[in-house]
Amino acid sequence: MIVHAWLTFGQDVTTASGIRIGIDLGGTKIAGLAIARDGRTLAQRRTATPQGDYDATVTTIADIVRGIEAEIATTATVGVGIPGTISPATGRIKNSNSTWLNQTPLGDDLSRMLDRPIRFANDANCFALSEAADGAGAGASIVFGVIVGTGTGAGIVIEQRVLTGANAIGGEWGHNPLPAPRDDERPGPRCYCGRDGCIETFLSGPALARSYIASGGAAITAVDIAARARAGDPIANRVLERYEERMARALGSIINVIDPDVIVLGGGLSNIDRLYDRVPKLWSPYVFSDRVDTRLVPAKHGDSSGVRGAAWLWQPGE
Ligand SMILES: [Zn+2]
Repeated sequence: MIVHAWLTFGQDVTTASGIRIGIDLGGTKIAGLAIARDGRTLAQRRTATPQGDYDATVTTIADIVRGIEAEIATTATVGVGIPGTISPATGRIKNSNSTWLNQTPLGDDLSRMLDRPIRFANDANCFALSEAADGAGAGASIVFGVIVGTGTGAGIVIEQRVLTGANAIGGEWGHNPLPAPRDDERPGPRCYCGRDGCIETFLSGPALARSYIASGGAAITAVDIAARARAGDPIANRVLERYEERMARALGSIINVIDPDVIVLGGGLSNIDRLYDRVPKLWSPYVFSDRVDTRLVPAKHGDSSGVRGAAWLWQPGE
């Protein structure tokens, strides 16, 4: 697999072991995993993210790497998936919905603390890469990977290469405006990015929960709303139908631009089974084609896709 998705901080070296550590820096938890040359998982760790505390975040990541290396008794390469991206221009994080990470020099600081080069990529890009490599998008030429959870991130992988882009924002579809907005969707909710009516403000888990409350439902999670819809709750069903229609509009615009073979959903809301049947039945009006063969599928590697993709920012033996 060839990957051109990273920004490397620190001097390039090679590691003989071929073992790669991936770190998934999330808003609520930090996961770490070591994979062998043949793809086997050798060790894994998971801990809460020290929210709002940058210094503790750097230390926590370093501790996970050292802990895994102590367990496997060797050193490894380290790739990190981050919310947002590292600006190619400044070397600092931007576009993170964990907003306290924005403008921090995580690349330099972590590389110095672990005394080695470290590669970074957007977490959704890591997710898409993992699923395109040996997940639900394996064998596909063009894969659009979407994480629908606390936010709405996405990554584009073409022929096993992440499309990073000149501004390192390739795939950031969650901050496009929701296409074909209805009157009651304009201007739409305010997004943390400063815009109104971003796709993320309609398709994230908190957005679905807000939508349920606004329709007279209780304050429950997105996955619980889906469970209630299954049990026959008419409000939950109506809210989910509107959610599916919005997702169809949002993905239809992607199909027109990059025409993916497969769209893979990850994140908490990817556990809502009915999306895979219903959304493709709703997206045709928004796609410029007489038929749409694009598949919408759940992630194969579930929660571990982001951390696996981060590990694969390095090639074995690199
Ligand atoms: Zn936004």
